[in-house]
Amino acid sequence: MKENILKIRKQINENTKLVVVTKNQSISNIKKIYSYGERDFGENRVQELIQKQQVLPSNINWHLIGRLQSNKVKLIAPFIHLIQSVDSIKLLEKINKYANLNNRNIDCLIQIKISSDTAKSGFSIEDALDFFNSNFENHFPHIKIRGIMCIGTLTKDFETTKREFMDMKNLLKKTNLKNPILSMGMSNDYILACQLGSNMIRIGSLIFK
Ligand SMILES: *Cc1c(COP(=O)(O)O)cnc(C)c1O
Repeated sequence: MKENILKIRKQINENTKLVVVTKNQSISNIKKIYSYGERDFGENRVQELIQKQQVLPSNINWHLIGRLQSNKVKLIAPFIHLIQSVDSIKLLEKINKYANLNNRNIDCLIQIKISSDTAKSGFSIEDALDFFNSNFENHFPHIKIRGIMCIGTLTKDFETTKREFMDMKNLLKKTNLKNPILSMGMSNDYILACQLGSNMIRIGSLIFK
């Protein structure tokens, strides 16, 4: 696992954040990754995230990268570092409410549905543009929108992925966010994602293989 991380880090810019996706991994595996100095871990299920958070060191930055149901926001609101998978305004309202109740501001990314895979969730590019042109900062004072996240289409067709990632980069420019996060790239496409402007990659299988 250590060699895999070193290899990935060598391929990416030092300003690119590596989020180690620990879903389905055992506590002992995660402890090993922690001992190598990694501090940003991503989980896609709330229940699993909470179970791990409770037994692992408190200085881990936990990222939620999977679909979040409104009724589970309160479970992660006290500690979550970055919610990457915001897919609706309704969810933002819930996050804002529980951030306030916990006396904190919660960092979020807007998930963009770029894939032609209809099962994927997220804002369409048009809805995201409407959102970023709205008065969201006043509307959600306890949320800090840091950028956008996407899951590329699982395909060997390089051109499709390239087009999707370029669309993301163009969208990011139009958001006018300061120092925005572009969370883009997984085990099979992170090199391309980084070439096309990603500054946060989420890697699971390539690290734990
Ligand atoms: C599982 C997952 C990843 C990591 O995928 P790998 O292909 O294992 O690197 C990244 N992002 C999301 C949203 C995921 O669910």
